[in-house]
Amino acid sequence: MVDVFDIRPYNKLSAIPLKYINVIDSFWSDRQEINKNISLPLMLRKLEENHHIDNFRIAAREKKGIHRGDFYYDSDLYKWLEGALYFTIHFDLSEELVYKIRDIIELIKNSQLRDGYLNTFYSLNFLHRRFTNLLIFHELYCAGHLIEAAIAEKGFSIERNLLEVSKQFANLLVKKFLNPKVNETSGHPEIELALIKLYRETSNEIYLNLCKHLIEKRGNIPHLRTYVMRRLIDAIKTFRVLNERKQKFLNNKGKQDFEKEESAEFLEGLTLKDWLIFLRQNLNGKNYQLNKSIRNSYEPIGHTVRALYLYSGVIDLYSEIGDETLLRAMELIWLKMVKAKMYITGGTGSVKAIEGFGKDFDLKVENSYSETCAAIANIMWNWRLLLVTNKSKYADLIEHLLYNAMLVGQSLDGKKYFYSNCLISNGEEERKEWFKCPCCPTNFIRIIPKLGQYIYTTSKSGIWVHQYIGSEVKFPSNSSSSIKIKQTSQFPWNGKVSFKFLSRMDKESLYLRVPKWCESIQLNLNDEEIVERKKVGSYLQIKRKWREDEILKINLNMEPRLLSDNRNMKETIDKKFIQYGPLVYCLEDLDNRNNNFPHIAIAAEPNLKPEFESSLLGGTLAIKGDLSSGKSFTAIPYFAWANRGRTKMRVWIDSIK
Ligand SMILES: [Zn+2]
Repeated sequence: MVDVFDIRPYNKLSAIPLKYINVIDSFWSDRQEINKNISLPLMLRKLEENHHIDNFRIAAREKKGIHRGDFYYDSDLYKWLEGALYFTIHFDLSEELVYKIRDIIELIKNSQLRDGYLNTFYSLNFLHRRFTNLLIFHELYCAGHLIEAAIAEKGFSIERNLLEVSKQFANLLVKKFLNPKVNETSGHPEIELALIKLYRETSNEIYLNLCKHLIEKRGNIPHLRTYVMRRLIDAIKTFRVLNERKQKFLNNKGKQDFEKEESAEFLEGLTLKDWLIFLRQNLNGKNYQLNKSIRNSYEPIGHTVRALYLYSGVIDLYSEIGDETLLRAMELIWLKMVKAKMYITGGTGSVKAIEGFGKDFDLKVENSYSETCAAIANIMWNWRLLLVTNKSKYADLIEHLLYNAMLVGQSLDGKKYFYSNCLISNGEEERKEWFKCPCCPTNFIRIIPKLGQYIYTTSKSGIWVHQYIGSEVKFPSNSSSSIKIKQTSQFPWNGKVSFKFLSRMDKESLYLRVPKWCESIQLNLNDEEIVERKKVGSYLQIKRKWREDEILKINLNMEPRLLSDNRNMKETIDKKFIQYGPLVYCLEDLDNRNNNFPHIAIAAEPNLKPEFESSLLGGTLAIKGDLSSGKSFTAIPYFAWANRGRTKMRVWIDSIK
């Protein structure tokens, strides 16, 4: 019998702690190695060069200077640290990196004030104004990322220094905000899900109560328009004061000026119309999800990453208190997102002005915004929805997001990133090593080491397989004999997967997700075809006494498909896209030079054929097919585009009727 480990009161499925799952996969292991060996140290160098770490050195009185960078800079160091700490579970990091991790933890500890407060933007600039503008200045957002890093510290250090720091800060937040008379909540959610993690770690209910309080304040802030207006004006004044202070510091030092700082990516190229949208979405509170109570919400609104972090926190809260109205609202919002506000790649957030959700079907094929962080936040939300509902549609979307909307965010060599992700490019887009607002790279580095957690869950009735990712798992057990399974997968290039039982498993069910894109599936147990199997939702249930060394082979049939999307007819009526298994494909100019790219049309019967090309993009499965001109084309997985310099690209291809 499988032990259901640490199931939350209202979860239907129980997550497996990361230490029990080791990803050993022909596709994802490479990505993990690249992120550990290349991205992690490179990102640390960028955090060092851009003053993220120096701000802490100054706060800890190890160095003299002033705060530099933006008000959210602390969070990027916390996110890097969280990723680095999760890597230490299954990987050996270099001595230098381990030393750096310890050093940064010590630095964070020494930057904390005596009453628990920790935020270098305020403590180095104007401590007396702390907690006066939660809407704009991300104090609670940064606190949330500190707590998430502290949770990742488990297993790395017995002392749990970061956990102590987090508890002290969270206790201060409880003292300050857990009061019905205080009409404040987070301007950028993150603290909500972090508080639930802290509650689960410590069993201290004050953190759960603060999370509930912050969520319930939404839609209940009196005179919302005035509240927002005052904080926007305060932010403008604050930036002016900061600039004056910076100039004074430079004058005293006899220097001319800092290098001209770039503006953050989300402010680049905004038109007057964009600013008007920004202002309207701010003043009505929608940008911050403040206009309505969560229970009365039925569609995703505002800044996408804010929204999806908030919705993750709401599901976490539901999993502890079981308030059905919360779950119902989240299920409605999810449906609306999938039906009307999500691109075919899983990307969300089409309105650049607010990096946010637009009107229904506002899904232009050009100028899609689709921030990489939004894809990662969406995975986080869908994972929580899966745990509380046990519905395969959430695991389906996680798969789609992993292979498309998320993976496209990082270059194949692990050195460059996209902040926003387009579906059609005229060759202007280029991946960058770093951003003024580096939220996307630092989000990438914290999800990659955690991939293993999305593969399995358990329930009283058995083991659930949600993702086909090669791995070795040991299911945590209170008895002496634990269950061990080795999964081998050829995803995403083909649907062949095998499960080898490394221990016996008494009369137990194994549930296998049948992906939405999969039209036929074959199962073989010890080389004999299994015909009898039961369908539970979109999971196949196989119940038997599993013996050690038995091998279950499955083949989830993958075929290239030419698809259309009729949700926004004006944009896509005469266009198609290619999908193969979980992968969305695109055409790059580079592979289609003699086709007058991008003025091409796909044949009515394009005769699509998958061909693995070991010399293409480090080994990838290309899809070949026919154009209406009679010439052939080559498509590559969307995630792999823009890895050979600037090039034109199309996910959408014109089709001849
Ligand atoms: Zn981002």
